Parts: sequence; C-alpha cells; structure tokens
Amino acid sequence: MVATLYINGAWRQASDGGAHDVHSPHDQSVVAEVSQATQSDVLDAISAARESFDSGVFTSWSFNERSALVAKIADLLERDADLIARKESDDTGKRFIEAQYDLADVIATFRHFAALGLKEHGRSVDVGLAHVTSRIVHEPLGVASLIGPWNYPLLQIAWKVAPALVAGCSFIVKPSELTPQSAIALMRIIEEAGTPKGVANLILGPGSVVGTSLINDPRVDLVSFTGGLSTGQTIMRAAADTVKKLALELGGKNPHIIFADADIDAAIDNAVTAAFLHSGQVCSAGTRLIVERSIHDRVVNEIVRRAGNIVLGGPSDEMAETGPLISPDHLRNVTAYVEKGIAEGAKLLVGGKRSDKPEHENGWYYLPTVLDGCSSQMYCVQEESFGPVMTVEVFDSEVDAIRIGNDTNFGLSGGVWSSDSQKAARVASALRHGTIWVNDFGPYRPAAEWGGYKQSGIGRELGEHGLGEYLEIKHIWTNNAPSRSGWFRD
Ligand code: NDP
Repeated sequence: MVATLYINGAWRQASDGGAHDVHSPHDQSVVAEVSQATQSDVLDAISAARESFDSGVFTSWSFNERSALVAKIADLLERDADLIARKESDDTGKRFIEAQYDLADVIATFRHFAALGLKEHGRSVDVGLAHVTSRIVHEPLGVASLIGPWNYPLLQIAWKVAPALVAGCSFIVKPSELTPQSAIALMRIIEEAGTPKGVANLILGPGSVVGTSLINDPRVDLVSFTGGLSTGQTIMRAAADTVKKLALELGGKNPHIIFADADIDAAIDNAVTAAFLHSGQVCSAGTRLIVERSIHDRVVNEIVRRAGNIVLGGPSDEMAETGPLISPDHLRNVTAYVEKGIAEGAKLLVGGKRSDKPEHENGWYYLPTVLDGCSSQMYCVQEESFGPVMTVEVFDSEVDAIRIGNDTNFGLSGGVWSSDSQKAARVASALRHGTIWVNDFGPYRPAAEWGGYKQSGIGRELGEHGLGEYLEIKHIWTNNAPSRSGWFRD
C-alpha cells in the first residue's frame, strides 16, 4: 500500500486504500504507484490547511522567518535535484537533461521568493492629519488550492508554493495525476525543512474527481491554477459562489513575427526551438509563425528542413532532442488538430503523423509538423494544440503583422524579429500579450512577472506581483487623539 498523500503533517494512504499507476509516455512502463485521494481525504486536507491558518502557527512567523524557510527548501532541492529530475523525466518522458534544467529553474524560483520576502512590506500613508497614523500592511491571504499541469510539473507548482510560503498561507497542492512524483518529493522537503504541521498538504488524483472541493469549499480563499482554458473556465464558474480569489495561468497561441530585415539565421533557429521544444507542450510555445511575405519561402523551407531532422527519443536517449507527448489522449487530440487544419485548407509541409520508428512503438511520439498557408480564421491558428505543430501565416506590413499577432483570444506571449529597433519596439508595445521577446523567444527569469492578457489568464506569477497574489492588503487607521465625530445631533 502506498502512502503518498500528505495531510496535516503526516503521510497517508487514501482513505479507501485507492492507488493508481503512473506510466511513462516513452514506453508505457509503470514508473510509480501513488495514492488516489477520496473526497474525504480532500476535505481532511482542507480542514488541516484551514485549522493551521486560523491557529496562527505560521502566520505568526515574520516575513524574515518564512523567507529563511523558503531558502532552506531551495538548499534541500539543490541537494536532491538529480533525484527529483529523474522522477520528473520518468513521469513526463522528457529528457533527463531537460528535467535538470527545470530543477535549476525550480530552485531559482524558491531563491527569488526567499529574497523578496526580506524586502520591506507595507507602507505608511500621509493622510494629512498630524494625530492620525495610517499604515498599509500585507497579510497572508488564507488557504490556497494550488493546482498544476503536467508539462513542467514541479516548476509550475513552485511558482505557487514558494510565494504562498513566504506570504504565510496554508495550502493544498494538487499536481496532475499524470505527473505526481516531483510534487511528492517537494512535499518531503517542505516537511524536512520544518514547515509547521497542516500548512502544506498534498492531494493526488484526477482533477475531475478531487478538484471540485478544492474549488467549491468555502474554507478555501484562493485558487491558483495553471492549465487549459476550458478547465480555467470551469474553475471560474465554480469559484463564483464563494467569491474566491483566482489566479489563472491558462493557454496561449503565441505569435512569432519575423520581419524581412531580421537576422534570418537566428530567427529561424529560434523559431524551430520556440515551436518544437518539449514537443510543443509549452504554454508559451511559438507555434504561430507570422512571416513577412518576401522571406516566406526562405524561412519556411529551412524550418521544414530543420523540423524533419529533429531526433525524438526517451528520457535516457542521449541523441534525442525532444520527447514524446504526455498521453495517448493527447496524441489523439494533436492528430485530430492537424487533420482538422488540413481539412480547413492548411498545407502540410512536414510531419503530420505519429513517429513510425520501431523504438517509438510503445510511446506517444508525434513528428514535428509545419502547416503552411494558414489564416486567422482557421481553428488550427486560433486554438492551442499543445503539441509540435507550427502554423504559418504571411504579412505585408508592420500594421498587418500587429493586426494578425493580436487576432487571438489568447495573450500569453509573443516574439518579434527585426534589425530596426524602433520598429521592433513599436510592435512589442502594440502586441497585447503578457511577455514579448524582441530578437529572442522563450527565456524568462523568476524576477520578472509572468502571465496572460485576455483569455490566457488572470493575475501574474513570479516577479513581485507573484507574491502579491498570496497577500491581503489591509489599511489600519489609528487616531492618536480620539474626539467626537459630531456628525449627528445629540
Ligand atoms: P488541464 O486543464 O487539463 O489540467 C491542469 C490541472 O487541473 C491538472 O492538475 C488537472 O488534474 C486539474 N484539473 C482538471 N480538471 C479539473 C477540475 N474540474 N477541477 C480542478 N482541477 C482540475 O491542463 P493540462 O494539465 O492538460 O495542461 C495543459 C494546459 O496548461 C495547456 O493549455 C497549457 O497552455 C496550460 N499551461 C499554461 C501555463 C501558463 O503559464 N500559462 C503553463 C503550463 C501549462 P488531472 O491532470 O489530474 O486531471
């Protein structure tokens, strides 16, 4: 029997003994067995979080003390980084080296928030009255449900857990059922670091089963969710009854604009990385190429050549450049998405099918795919495939490029390539997306805010705002020379 639920400071089996196997997307082998929580386990986790918060066991710590805890967690993560990276690579099918990069990002996230906690919080306000002291104070928001996706399992959870701890919240973490192992490892470290009992809790199981109470329960104050748009919409509706605070990081269909005056070689190389890194299973993937008409053939022919050469392989394949899709369901969705694009009139230039290599027979490998001749009205341009599928559109002017780049309900990220710095700055300013890269695509730092415009989400993670999501702001007005108000007659 496995005991991988962490509730009120103790490791537990599910109350009905339920468990499920985690399968490698590379070859379907079983990589772990984990507990599958019941509704009563979820309610226990919420009770533990609520009671710990209300007891003051953690909220009474100073920001400095909580920062020290988060810094210690970063140290312990560093100690165990390779062990955790191995688990993450087993669950996701991504190459071990990519999982190592992700762990480095996880540690950097904890370090960023540990440092942020040490800064001054709150401020005095001059209300223009000598006898009044007015203070703005930042307080922990309360109990948070932290729900993460499977593509960067620990990193997306880290963006929530680290600020929640610095802020002094109590929380329940729910990773994707497909990739639970790294969250279990993080929770063991949080325990080892000395986090008070009940502050951090871990629930495992499918979102459709264990997610409902994490959103509906009136004892939860905030839901911070990273995942798909339709799940985000479900969460918003469900959270309305109890007017919960929401932080949503949803999908993207991110424009990548290349002008004819760009460094074409660098732009092409980055376009290939932007679309096919982690087989496109990246919320900020640059899968919507928008290229100036005069360089279309040169750029697209080279991208197609490069895409056709990308080597697919599993976690320990040292020659592999990217890995499998996460699940058979996802493989089916990506296959259907490409078929729909072709039916809409897109021209398939490369890929467009599952890998037929014998060594990929038992895994969910889909070939890097380029669909040319696309336009804004197409489903494959408007919707996210979350797979290795690049759509190509052309533009004729700067105005045209901006119009196409903004013609989407999403607004997570975008890129623009040009050697004309003023033009690039104008386009960067006009694009309505949360992150814009100029002559680059993809890098981020924990010190800079991350999040979406429009239907890509609500709120921001990372940066300073990423801590603000977990804080309430209170104004305390103190009259040091009390007197009658005198408004009403005696
Ligand atoms: P999902 O929306 O399917 O799932 C995300 C998480 O929500 C999982 O833990 C899932 O659990 C859980 N969940 C599913 N249904 C419910 C529910 N009804 N109530 C509560 N929780 C639920 O997304 P994916 O995991 O498929 O992730 C891919 C999506 O995430 C993409 O659209 C991508 O763009 C987006 N994403 C956005 C990022 C950003 O920063 N904006 C970063 C990374 C991904 P389970 O899997 O166990 O069912």
